[in-house]
Amino acid sequence: MSRVLVVEDETAIGELIAINLRHAGFEVTLAQDAGQAQAAIDAVLPDLVLLDWMLPGRSGVSLAQQWRGEARTREVPLIMLTARADERDKITGLDAGADDYLTKPFSTQELLARIRAVLRRRAPQALDTAVEIDGLRLDPATRRVQRGDLELKLGPTEFKLLHFLMTHPERVHSRAQLLDRVWGDHVFIEERTVDVHIKRLREALAPGDRAHLLETVRGAGYRLAKPSTQAA
Ligand code: CA
Repeated sequence: MSRVLVVEDETAIGELIAINLRHAGFEVTLAQDAGQAQAAIDAVLPDLVLLDWMLPGRSGVSLAQQWRGEARTREVPLIMLTARADERDKITGLDAGADDYLTKPFSTQELLARIRAVLRRRAPQALDTAVEIDGLRLDPATRRVQRGDLELKLGPTEFKLLHFLMTHPERVHSRAQLLDRVWGDHVFIEERTVDVHIKRLREALAPGDRAHLLETVRGAGYRLAKPSTQAA
């Protein structure tokens, strides 16, 4: 389930967005100002942030600029919400690092379409689209992992971990990054937890002869290799 942080000071609008997103299957956290938003993102890294431009005190734009400047939050997909339709503001929002921009009032259909488009581009692990690498196929909708006709048995954490790695292949992910992105908790869970689940994941992939796709990068973390189609 994808986590969305909604930062909106107008309670009625925030609640309405939250109800609609929950109805569409998202897990929603609400924040009403920059302080609450920062606390929420410090606790759990969301898959996407809906950020209101005009907030009491510190503005959404200033918050977006800060998050884009920090390693942990740099890649969090961000959609700015605003009542302003002014072209100059739109450019300021995009310059601040927003992936998209939505002018109030907007329909639920439009909001969901924009969220899905940004997630497809920036956080494919948050969507239910099946992924396939080197004959290994993972389908979030059916929760199945298969190598050809062989179904591989994965625990829920190994499934999430594999989903994240398959949607971000070739990149090296540190243990802290994996805790953030897969577990949603980088504070209370120890990094060796990642090693335990990587080991279990390798064991689960072994019957399908695909454990070798999961590479340990010494001193850096883990990577899911994506062999080129020519070599396969
Ligand atoms: Ca506002």
